[in-house]
Amino acid sequence: MASHPATRTVRTFLLIALFGSFLAAAALGEGTARRILILSGAEVMLPAGQAVDGAIRKDLSAASLGPLEFYSEGLDSYRFRSEGYERELASFLRRKYEAKQPALVFALTDIALDFLLRYRGELWPDAPIVFTNVDPKYFEARGRPSWVTGIVDDEDFTQTVALARRLQPDARRILIVGGSGDRDATTNARAARSLDSLRPEFEISVRSGVPIADFPREFGRLPPGTILLFTMMFRDSEGRAIVPRDAAQALSAAASVPVYSVHSTFLGTGILGGALFDFEHAGHAAARLGARILAGESPGVIPIEQGSPRLQAIDARQLRRFGIPERRVPPGYEVRFRTPSLWEHYRWRIVAVGVALAVETALLVALFAERQSRRRAEKESRQRGQELAHASRLATVGELAASISHEINQPLGAILANAETAELLLQSSAPSADELRQILADIRRDDVRASQVVSRVRALAGRGDIEMKPLAVNAVADAAAGLLDAEARRRGVVLERDFRAGLPEIRGDEISLQQVVINLALNGMEAMADTPSSRRRLSIATRNGSGRVVVRVSDTGHGIAADHEPKLFESFFTTKRHGLGLGLSICRSIVDAHGGRIAAQNNGGGGATFEFELPALSAGRPHENDDAVA
Ligand code: ADP
Repeated sequence: MASHPATRTVRTFLLIALFGSFLAAAALGEGTARRILILSGAEVMLPAGQAVDGAIRKDLSAASLGPLEFYSEGLDSYRFRSEGYERELASFLRRKYEAKQPALVFALTDIALDFLLRYRGELWPDAPIVFTNVDPKYFEARGRPSWVTGIVDDEDFTQTVALARRLQPDARRILIVGGSGDRDATTNARAARSLDSLRPEFEISVRSGVPIADFPREFGRLPPGTILLFTMMFRDSEGRAIVPRDAAQALSAAASVPVYSVHSTFLGTGILGGALFDFEHAGHAAARLGARILAGESPGVIPIEQGSPRLQAIDARQLRRFGIPERRVPPGYEVRFRTPSLWEHYRWRIVAVGVALAVETALLVALFAERQSRRRAEKESRQRGQELAHASRLATVGELAASISHEINQPLGAILANAETAELLLQSSAPSADELRQILADIRRDDVRASQVVSRVRALAGRGDIEMKPLAVNAVADAAAGLLDAEARRRGVVLERDFRAGLPEIRGDEISLQQVVINLALNGMEAMADTPSSRRRLSIATRNGSGRVVVRVSDTGHGIAADHEPKLFESFFTTKRHGLGLGLSICRSIVDAHGGRIAAQNNGGGGATFEFELPALSAGRPHENDDAVA
């Protein structure tokens, strides 16, 4: 819907009115902002001037004095100084600020104040002046105009030299180094004058205007007993303009002794320290006076302030560089640029790592202790195992006692019979030597047989420490079978030896492995108790597996009931009335300790087969833990 032309006109009018009042407000704002001019005697970019300038701007902006605008000008009088130059500069500034009259002017240094006293009338006749960094004697010879106030201050060389004497107690020489410009010369002279009272205890000399490039040659080999006091350097003897802070830095780098100074702006460049004129503080003090004037006070009634406290500061890095102990630093001095120690820097991280390490160590100790006690327990359990195995062997020998005594009695009986026959022969008139020889050979054979049985039994029953060595499995199986022959006969069992030739050797303990075969064989024989005697057959067989040697003991007994199978090798599992249930568990420990495996299964045609396999030596896996059997 289109609006009525009259309404539109009113709206346009209102918009114009609004915009107009906005413009008016903006103009008013600009008009009411008071201008602050900071006039430095040097160029505006010098660090000292910047420190003062920055502090003034910061403080005044913060002190709700209404809108302010800041301008900075540098007379650069240390580099440009002639009557003509100043006049030209004054007229340039007048033109520049014609339409922007400052409400307040700050004069930094005597030079700036001189200039303003001379030209204020034609430049900014209404502007009050606040000065800082001006010589205390400035107004001694002349009266102070009512539009001026400020802070007088001076470098303090005596305090700095007092510090130097504390830090270098053996020093007997003071070398004042500075520039050779006008202002430099006054500073150097003032420094020398203020230290006059130290003569003749100290030899005091001044070196002015040495070009920076010559610093290493001039100051690089000063004797250690020298106090090097750097004053100020705006110009060198070759007329080069110099930034004083650059000179301080170059001098500190080149000098063979610590460099002291009196200006805060040099701190951090490499000087050791001093009682420093604090430019920033000067700025704050000047800003305070300026604020009072801007708030309406008249400068004439504000008394001139005397100086500012020194910044007493030391560079810790320089102390270290010259091997000066920090305990020599007098009280009241602040030691700056301390490189924090690793501890200070990473305290929490170090604590955290320490705690972690402690926890880790505690864990390790606990684990170690646990491992030790486990090892002890393992060793004890091994020991127990060996003792058990031995006890079980003794039990086996007991079990075999009847057949063994039969086995021994047989040759003994034969020997006796042969001896009697020999006696009878000898009683005859012509005994046959051949026959006697034959009898003696039989006696010897029977004796050997009996003693073989005895030594086998002794080996099996002996305490016998474990001894791992390369073994032929067939020999082990044969020795076991030798001990079983008589028992088999006694039980009416046919004992079959089925040894495969050319088997690789294994590594093991002979007696323990014999024990395994005997245990399995005796179990087999017992299982055949109810088997008709014509069918009782026990076979001990050896075979070659891949990288393993297999020993198989099969019987034709009652076989293994399905629900017994999983428990066969557990300790104390037995189905026999007088059984202990330890035989198979001992067999398994022995085979395990040899790095082998044992298993049982029923035969297709009845009976059971127990089979164990051991790693063959040629397979490159000799068992490592030599005493780990049983
Ligand atoms: P024990 O002979 O004292 O019973 P073992 O550990 O030697 O202890 O045997 C445990 C059980 O395993 C036996 O009681 C028996 O039931 C079964 N067993 C062992 N060997 C055979 C075998 N050849 N045939 C059938 N069962 C067997």
